[in-house]
Amino acid sequence: MTEITKSKVMELLKKRGFHFKKGFGQNFLFDRNLLKRIVRGAEITPGDSVVEIGPGAGTLTSILTEAGARVLAVEIDTALIPILREILPEEKVTVIQGDILKVDLDQLTREKGLTHPYKIVANLPYYITTPIIMDILEKEYQFEIMVIMVQWEVAERLTSSPGTKDYGAITLSVQYYCESSILFKVPRHLFTPAPEVDSAVLLLKKRAEPAVQVKNREFLFKIVRAAFGQRRKTLLNALGSVQPGLHKEVLLQVLDEAGIDGQRRGETLSLEEFAVLANAWEERKS
Ligand code: SAM
Repeated sequence: MTEITKSKVMELLKKRGFHFKKGFGQNFLFDRNLLKRIVRGAEITPGDSVVEIGPGAGTLTSILTEAGARVLAVEIDTALIPILREILPEEKVTVIQGDILKVDLDQLTREKGLTHPYKIVANLPYYITTPIIMDILEKEYQFEIMVIMVQWEVAERLTSSPGTKDYGAITLSVQYYCESSILFKVPRHLFTPAPEVDSAVLLLKKRAEPAVQVKNREFLFKIVRAAFGQRRKTLLNALGSVQPGLHKEVLLQVLDEAGIDGQRRGETLSLEEFAVLANAWEERKS
């Protein structure tokens, strides 16, 4: 297909008996200007390797190839695979049927001849936005940037600061690995079918090194989760679950060593403060 337009794609989808599946978070984009803005946000230059999560009917994929990208597109819906193979140029796009949470992106990209580090570009399915982002970060994939469409609320949460209502454990996980910023807001009416909320295109730039240095990353996030698990509690009370049996006196000493007032709530701590606390605590354990 030469230029992908909404009417051509809708006709093809109809011909193939395709029905939008809510369960797969299928809200497609056809607006060429919007798609181009997303691709510009990813600063695609000819020869770039891109992983697209959930290509849907291939509209974003098509613009990525126009910008010169070589794309690996992973789509869960088997009904879309033949449509994507019909629409997209075979020499520029490899379409894989699969669940993004179950594939190994580094291995797959290598097998399909994409270079590392690659870029990740996607209009993410809303029902698993956070699991997808966390999966990509925690597996420490060789990506360079992610430019992703997410619900507006998620974008706010991932870019929020300490002490605000949106600030949470996920904010800190993302900040640990990436610098994050909202590129632009996208109104709901630009999707087909239109979802009930607006969206935003988010840029996550992977840091060369994590934002903070800790002796034990798992332990850092255990503390973070405990602190946010009981948001209304003071740190002194909320952190009791991190090390069952630990005397409050000892916890107070650890907080003191870290220079953190135990009467504060977890939601007021920066990532740096959590890191100092985790390191002081770890020291105490050994
Ligand atoms: N990229 C297309 C667009 O912008 O028009 C479609 C975006 S739509 C919001 C999300 C896409 O992700 C759908 O095509 C859906 O089938 C696919 N998807 C949902 N869950 C997935 C998963 N676990 N792995 C891969 N793709 C998935």
